[in-house]
Amino acid sequence: MTTASNSYDVFVIGGGVNGTGIARDAAGRGYSVMLAEMNDLASGTSSAATKLVHGGLRYLEHYEFKLVREALIEREVLWAAAPHIIWPLRFVLPHHKGLRPAWFLRLGLVVYDYLGGRKLLPATKTLDLRKDVTGKPLKPGYSTAFEYSDCWVDDARLVTLYAKDAEAKGARIATRTKVIGAQRGAGGWQIQLEGPNGAETVRAKLLVNAGGPWVDQVINRALGRNDARNVRMVKGSHIVVKKLFDHDRCYIFQNADNRIIFAIPYEQDFTLIGTTDQDFAGELGKVEISAEETNYLLSAASEYFAKPVTRDQIVWTYSGVRPLFDDGATAAQEATRDYVIRTEAEPDGAMINVFGGKLTTSRHLSEEVVDGFAKLIGQKGPRWTHGAKLPGGEFETTGFEAEVRKLAGRYPWLEAKLARRLTRLYGTRAVVLLGEASGVADLGESFGADLFAREVDYLTREEWAHTAEDVLWRRTKLGLRVSQADIDRLAAYLAARR
Ligand code: FAD
Repeated sequence: MTTASNSYDVFVIGGGVNGTGIARDAAGRGYSVMLAEMNDLASGTSSAATKLVHGGLRYLEHYEFKLVREALIEREVLWAAAPHIIWPLRFVLPHHKGLRPAWFLRLGLVVYDYLGGRKLLPATKTLDLRKDVTGKPLKPGYSTAFEYSDCWVDDARLVTLYAKDAEAKGARIATRTKVIGAQRGAGGWQIQLEGPNGAETVRAKLLVNAGGPWVDQVINRALGRNDARNVRMVKGSHIVVKKLFDHDRCYIFQNADNRIIFAIPYEQDFTLIGTTDQDFAGELGKVEISAEETNYLLSAASEYFAKPVTRDQIVWTYSGVRPLFDDGATAAQEATRDYVIRTEAEPDGAMINVFGGKLTTSRHLSEEVVDGFAKLIGQKGPRWTHGAKLPGGEFETTGFEAEVRKLAGRYPWLEAKLARRLTRLYGTRAVVLLGEASGVADLGESFGADLFAREVDYLTREEWAHTAEDVLWRRTKLGLRVSQADIDRLAAYLAARR
């Protein structure tokens, strides 16, 4: 740690998966760090993903072997770090006559299986859909599928855990704090912030711009350059429908336009379907699914499911913008998903801009970004995040069920469903949340579903939650289950605490 209270080694702009990942890595190596997020943590792209920790099977078709290999290796690294919010999923890829041939899919999956890093995840196998349970919800014409492994992640919680870990290692995390200006000067950067307590100016030797889709806007507006055109914004939308099937596996469907969509078991009672790939030129912060995207997803899913998926089944939709590095590809789905790190090594204030990236590669990206600090502001500690746990994940990679039993044993009055939900969200920290509670009455006011004041208090105290939306859509997904009256009561409760 260094320097006076408003002066840091590193200042990170953006509380998405990349900004928080970088802050965590840097703080753990001993740099003094501040991160500013203009809204809530993960309020940008990092809560709008398909939520897969995956190699990206279809990127093999674009010959992105390096990206796929790195991402495949990261699957088990991230799963081990946070086995409460990350878990393995099996993907069923039906062979569609007229689209990619079966031998081609099989070959792709052999490469996927052996390209890197698979130790605990099971290998690919072939399924006879006429016999396997995964064939039941599909049209009878689909007879063969390939089943392979990837992982699932609660994207918004991954961001919160990176931020928690960064804070535990000394970083200052300021949410609802916008960077409105930054100038180079003797001794580094002067950075102007607008936050809940008004304006503030801080200093830093190094500025990291992890603004996601806003990365060019930060360069143009906060730094006043007006020349940045690095990001290709590609919108992706999802629909959530009532559960379409009863097993725990996920489908990956090929479409006639060469794209793929997923249909994933979601929050026990739902199915998540996505995503689209559309160039985006609208206003960031107002990203919504279009009628065309909804129709696309409904018809792509209905090409496979025996019972057509219809608009009235939709209970929620969400959309986000991929901040892809503009590599000049013509089609949105062909633009590279790899990340690009650009460094400006100016003596009066160094800067690193981060473009692109995925949830899956966020830890690896952070490591590479922080490795670059040595040349700019001096060497500190070595790499450390490979093999390190995230808060709440301090148990065996495959030990989730045992952890649920442990929590239920310690709080025998806790409903089984709630014990499972709390373990999923908070892992070993569920006991910090529950503390000395000795019955449901100790959980306080109920806000619908199984959300009680005790959890809300924990989220405001420990996880930077301020609004009902932060609690219901990012720290938890209970927004899918509560009524408007519940939301209003929760909002009033949170307002009274401020
Ligand atoms: P963001 O999460 O957008 O974070 C940037 C943050 O910077 C924002 O929160 C914003 O508020 C803040 N900010 C901007 N300007 C300022 C300022 N001036 N001051 C302070 N704060 C500021 N990846 C996977 O690995 N698996 C997937 O399944 C997957 N699916 C995806 C599906 C879709 C539809 C999309 C869109 C992306 C998907 N991704 C997936 C990619 C992944 O979600 C993104 O690459 C990642 O979330 C980008 O994170 P980020 O931190 O760069 O950006």
